[in-house]
Amino acid sequence: MSLEPQPQSPWQAATITRIEKRTPRVTSFWFQPLRPFVHLAGQHVDVRLTAPDGYQARRSYSIASAPEADAGIELAIERLDDGEVSPFFHDVAEVGDEIELRGPLGGHFIWEASDGGPILLVGGGSGAIPLMAMVRHRTLQNRPRRSRWCFRRGSGTR
Ligand SMILES: Cc1cc2nc3c(=O)[nH]c(=O)nc-3n(C[C@H](O)[C@H](O)[C@H](O)COP(=O)(O)OP(=O)(O)OC[C@H]3O[C@@H](n4cnc5c(N)ncnc54)[C@H](O)[C@@H]3O)c2cc1C
Repeated sequence: MSLEPQPQSPWQAATITRIEKRTPRVTSFWFQPLRPFVHLAGQHVDVRLTAPDGYQARRSYSIASAPEADAGIELAIERLDDGEVSPFFHDVAEVGDEIELRGPLGGHFIWEASDGGPILLVGGGSGAIPLMAMVRHRTLQNRPRRSRWCFRRGSGTR
């Protein structure tokens, strides 16, 4: 379920600039939006795919990159074999392709270095991805505070 888009976040074109396989089921995609934006660690974007017949599919993806990163927006997408959008990214999308996205979205689940610490981050599955942005943000801000990172892998039922 997506949060309501903020008025300043219209759909815009974004080009895939890099693709990197992270695990057998998760691949990172870097996007360069036509109009770059600044995000907070924990926010997400919506992506929209449009088929030649006009059919559209929208999904939300957390931003994995730190706000300070200058290589574009990284999304880490887990493949659901029977899904509609994630297999498209894994099987079809290539560097240079253009998709539509809007964001940044979501303002409740965020962490900024100025919030201080120590911090305890607990996530499972793709829920770990916004936590990656927080860890990266914290590292780039040179915050030497204690943190704990608890990650629960999938149950392996797929
Ligand atoms: C805020 C937010 C952030 C997210 N961040 C990430 C992220 O960083 N990385 C990530 O990988 N995912 C993330 N997600 C999940 C992502 O938005 C998609 O839900 C996910 O990629 C699956 O999309 P899909 O189109 O591949 O699968 P879908 O087509 O949506 O299918 C998902 C599952 O539902 C089943 N299904 C579909 N339709 C029906 C139906 N009518 N009846 C019964 N079953 C059905 C499918 O078989 C499949 O198993 C996030 C979601 C939210 C809301």
